Amino acid sequence: MILKHFTELKQFLSQPRNIVIIGHRNPDGDAIGSTLGLKHYLDKKGHTTQVLMPNEYPEFLHWVPGSETVKRFDRQNKQSVKALTKSDIVFLLDFNALHRVGDDMQNTLEQYENDFALIDHHQQPDEFKYMYSDTSMSSTCQMVYNFIEMMGDVDLIDKNIATCLYTGIMTDTGSFRFRSTTSTTHRIIADLIDKGAENDRIHSNVHDSNSYSRLLLLGQALSNMKVLPEYKTAFITLTEEEKRRFNYEKGDTEGVVNYALSLKGIVFAAIFIEDEEQGIIKISFRSKGDFSVNKFARNYFNGGGHDNAAGGRSDESMEDTIARFKTLLTSYQQELQNSYEA
Ligand code: 5GP
Ligand code: MN
Repeated sequence: MILKHFTELKQFLSQPRNIVIIGHRNPDGDAIGSTLGLKHYLDKKGHTTQVLMPNEYPEFLHWVPGSETVKRFDRQNKQSVKALTKSDIVFLLDFNALHRVGDDMQNTLEQYENDFALIDHHQQPDEFKYMYSDTSMSSTCQMVYNFIEMMGDVDLIDKNIATCLYTGIMTDTGSFRFRSTTSTTHRIIADLIDKGAENDRIHSNVHDSNSYSRLLLLGQALSNMKVLPEYKTAFITLTEEEKRRFNYEKGDTEGVVNYALSLKGIVFAAIFIEDEEQGIIKISFRSKGDFSVNKFARNYFNGGGHDNAAGGRSDESMEDTIARFKTLLTSYQQELQNSYEA
């Protein structure tokens, strides 16, 4: 755990400040929940805040309280730059390095003249003036709860804050089932319910909002799945043509990789998704047990994340990417065969 200059930060926040709060590119539930949860808290403390996201986020997160105040750097660029220019500090939530916001926003942030405060649970964070980094945490939302507690303000957590933080803890733990879920996570969740988070409604808002075409896309993804029992590995592919055929919208492929990991005996899963706009294959990796997909993504696919959930990218074609993936697996056969299995 790294906690850097916290007392100084607390002192800095003892006066009303102009604050910008940023999540990573392709924001997920934890990015949205943590930024908006922190926003509601800082607003209550008398600060002026603006949440900025690099690009769009899935429809199933648009109901999160405060979502309507979020500005997108790609679409509302002038307003975003203006908010940054007049801010006294920028909070970076749920990502570990500036490149995770994408090239345009990264360039702007690199010119930023005031200080950054990082709250994040990803491995190998870059250095910033203020830091709260803990890779053992289930989610950045759990860390925002801790941050509010360290500020001595747990009593300020109201229904809005509780709803935001519950959402990110829920999505980043796969509904409280991943290894990062601890008894403390559950105690915090219990407290958030006491403070007004309507758990049944949050689960339903996030998970029961499928479109018909999204389920058909899932069907396509599942029928594309390949199993490599000799490596205890399964992977899924989705081409741009398939995405178009099923009216792909942002967020539609969220969680699909977990179906590959749900196969009995599988400890390593991947999904390869063609992204014509960026000219890349976007990859998600998941594992069970000791096989570190963070290292795998970092070493071979220009990515990173956590030990059991990471992402990366490939500039090669789908065919070449899969061929490379299969070749790489041969060096890990022993490790994968010896990896934990339920
Ligand atoms: P997902 O596969 O759901 O997109 O991401 C899984 C985890 O890996 C998340 O914590 C996400 O923030 C992280 N991640 C995804 N893509 C990248 C990437 O390209 N680089 C790094 N460093 N982390 C990533
Ligand atoms: Mn997260």
